Amino acid sequence: MPLSIKNPYRNDVSSWLKGNLHAHTTNSDGRRSPQEVVDEYAKSGYAFLMISDHDFLTDPSGVDARGMVLIPGSEITAEGPHVLHVNAESTVAPNADRQIVIDEINADGAFAVVAHPNWEKNFAHCPQEKLEAWQGYIGIEVYNGVIRRLDGSPLATDRWDRLLGLGRRVWGFAHDDSHRSGDDGIAWIMVQAENRSLAGILEALRNGAFYASTGVTIETIRVSGKTIEVQTRDADRLIAYSDFGHRELTVDGPRLAFTVSENSTIKYVRVECWGRGECMAWTQPFYIEGV
Ligand SMILES: [Zn+2]
Ligand SMILES: [Zn+2]
Repeated sequence: MPLSIKNPYRNDVSSWLKGNLHAHTTNSDGRRSPQEVVDEYAKSGYAFLMISDHDFLTDPSGVDARGMVLIPGSEITAEGPHVLHVNAESTVAPNADRQIVIDEINADGAFAVVAHPNWEKNFAHCPQEKLEAWQGYIGIEVYNGVIRRLDGSPLATDRWDRLLGLGRRVWGFAHDDSHRSGDDGIAWIMVQAENRSLAGILEALRNGAFYASTGVTIETIRVSGKTIEVQTRDADRLIAYSDFGHRELTVDGPRLAFTVSENSTIKYVRVECWGRGECMAWTQPFYIEGV
């Protein structure tokens, strides 16, 4: 079978919506009220936001959305590694067996994203064995902003490459995990969507039609034939990674085009864009099929 590239992005849509799926309020350990948090993100030009209080579903209908799409959600917290419950209709009990939690989230028509795997002194808030054992979550946080002021690492692309290298299909998210002012605007996702609707944003998230960022802007992501092309506005270096973090191509400049060779046996390619300081962006993996 000839190989093909599964492109999660649409070549014909060039509009991107900025959002964050991880923010706390006074309904858990955040310092600001839900309305204050919504006001801040709306002022900063976000198109969508999920308030994700610990084991508590903050009802978005209780606040003025200020023109944003508010996604109902929470962060399953007690008894184990933290899991974001995206598009929640009701709270899910924090069962110590997180597979049960993930199954319950999925039964609700919602989806699960594993939070900050490399948090804490041992850099293992969520051990890799668990990430490999659990089924049914759609992604992990590859960057969590609040960890910049906590123990461990905000970055978890190492965990991601290990999962992807095993053939797992997991999207990469970047979120603030904001608890107070100063935590906002560190890490976000850009969703490819034609309009601002809850259904459209959720569908794009499920399908991987988004990229994660801490400051680099991606202008174009395009796949033609066996070539993946990424054009950024402001990256100094782009790297195409494949299985287990293997570097396929490094380019110093704002644009990269990588062609998968016909006899390749790699499972995926993803592109990382490095800008100034800690500004980065991460495309989703392009799965190589037919190998
Ligand atoms: Zn957490
Ligand atoms: Zn959190």
